Amino acid sequence: MKRRVFIKDALTGLPSLILVPTILASSCNNSGGGDPTEKTVIVVGAGISGLSAAKKLKETGYKVVLFESQDKVGGRLKSNRSLGVAFDEGASWIHGINGNPITNLAQQAGMLTFETIDESRKSYDIGGKLRSNKAYDDAEDELYDILDTLLESGKSDQSFQSVFNKLYPEKVNDRLWKFFLSTYLTFDLGDLDKLSSLLYNEGEVFDGSEKIATNGYDTIATYLANGLDIKLNQKVTKIDYTSSKVKVTHNGGISEADYVIVTVPLGVLKANVIEFSPELPNTKTTAIQKVGMNCVNKFLLTWNTSFWDDVQYISYTPETRDKFNYFVNVKKFHPTVNALMTFAYADYARQSETMTDAKILEEIMVHLRDIYGSDIPEPTNFLRTKWQSNENAFGAYSYTAVGTEMRHFDDLAEEINNRVFFAGEHTDSDYFSTVHGAHLSGIREADKIIDLR
Ligand SMILES: Cc1cc2nc3c(=O)[nH]c(=O)nc-3n(C[C@H](O)[C@H](O)[C@H](O)COP(=O)(O)OP(=O)(O)OC[C@H]3O[C@@H](n4cnc5c(N)ncnc54)[C@H](O)[C@@H]3O)c2cc1C
Repeated sequence: MKRRVFIKDALTGLPSLILVPTILASSCNNSGGGDPTEKTVIVVGAGISGLSAAKKLKETGYKVVLFESQDKVGGRLKSNRSLGVAFDEGASWIHGINGNPITNLAQQAGMLTFETIDESRKSYDIGGKLRSNKAYDDAEDELYDILDTLLESGKSDQSFQSVFNKLYPEKVNDRLWKFFLSTYLTFDLGDLDKLSSLLYNEGEVFDGSEKIATNGYDTIATYLANGLDIKLNQKVTKIDYTSSKVKVTHNGGISEADYVIVTVPLGVLKANVIEFSPELPNTKTTAIQKVGMNCVNKFLLTWNTSFWDDVQYISYTPETRDKFNYFVNVKKFHPTVNALMTFAYADYARQSETMTDAKILEEIMVHLRDIYGSDIPEPTNFLRTKWQSNENAFGAYSYTAVGTEMRHFDDLAEEINNRVFFAGEHTDSDYFSTVHGAHLSGIREADKIIDLR
């Protein structure tokens, strides 16, 4: 799936004080001076933004320690290999390989990729009715035209959905249109009833093909983490920047450093998991509130044999929007694996997190049986994600909600007192919501610290 393809198209406390630094005692006990070897940095979060920042700072001579709340690095680069194939629970694709820094990083790290072709697809309607390519392509072309012009009717206080519904009432209940809005907008961006009608096409894209990771996107995280001082299972709960050394509270201990880079997801900032002392400036808290955090969930189903079309994508257009309407044929890049990956978005994704495995499977199988017949086999295995309730993310990625202004992404990136820095996908106004955006944000913050020498 081409990420935001239409953009391209259009543009051509006290007790803990007593516990003072245990973990960081050896690596973060220096102060002052312009020599980086004297300076200490704590990076909060070992996702790609934190790892990229830490690697660059370490290579420049800083003493860097990462605190990561989970028992593994990578954050939203999360590959589950329990079924013998890498199921990427978070990011799967390098979106646009030309000039994309992840292209090189993937090569260096040994992350294998496969080019997914958008045109390799079949679209089915209810009743298993195969849709003609022409019907699909015509609607797609019309969608791009609408996305080019809807902005003119956009209002700062109105969602994409309210403007679209007013302009195109005849399309609101059309199943193909529901599918397009779901997979081309909600998947990449966010809930249509909250998505800004003015900023839905913001952000930049890289040219070139889409490549999906085949041996796990976390290969990049493992590569970046090599040689870094990473403390796992260390949830950070407080960052105190009242004095010249920043104090970071994590699992009952406090560690100090000259600089701290906070890379936790926007959802974690919204949930106030970390107490800042003094409180964060208003510009920052406003931006945390205004920028949206969406939800996308992914599901992998495996079978002993395949029964589906030999194409990359199988789409289905049910009445319920955002519900298991799009299947990635995993067999295309793992010929010996009979698996399909499907998705839920926005409120249906959140709702799916309260459903049992059996219920989810039942709902997915209703769609597949409608396409391929009632005698298709039951899946042998199944994996699922729950990004909304994941306490290390509280959502999937950031988007431009009603009330968001593009400067809010810059406010999220703004450092405080040249001591506390912020990185993460949600801090990159050009490439928010992506792996490359997160990576570039980490490099950006490392450079800011290096420039202070
Ligand atoms: C379902 C899904 C599909 C996606 N698909 C794609 C895709 O195909 N292509 C693409 O480019 N992008 C995709 N993305 C987006 C991409 O994965 C993210 O933009 C990127 O990985 C974010 O990196 P990050 O470093 O900003 O955050 P994260 O990777 O989330 O890293 C933050 C780290 O902070 C840790 N943390 C959280 N709270 C604390 C705390 N209190 N103390 C210490 N540590 C803490 C977390 O555990 C995590 O390791 C997808 C994301 C999801 C969820």
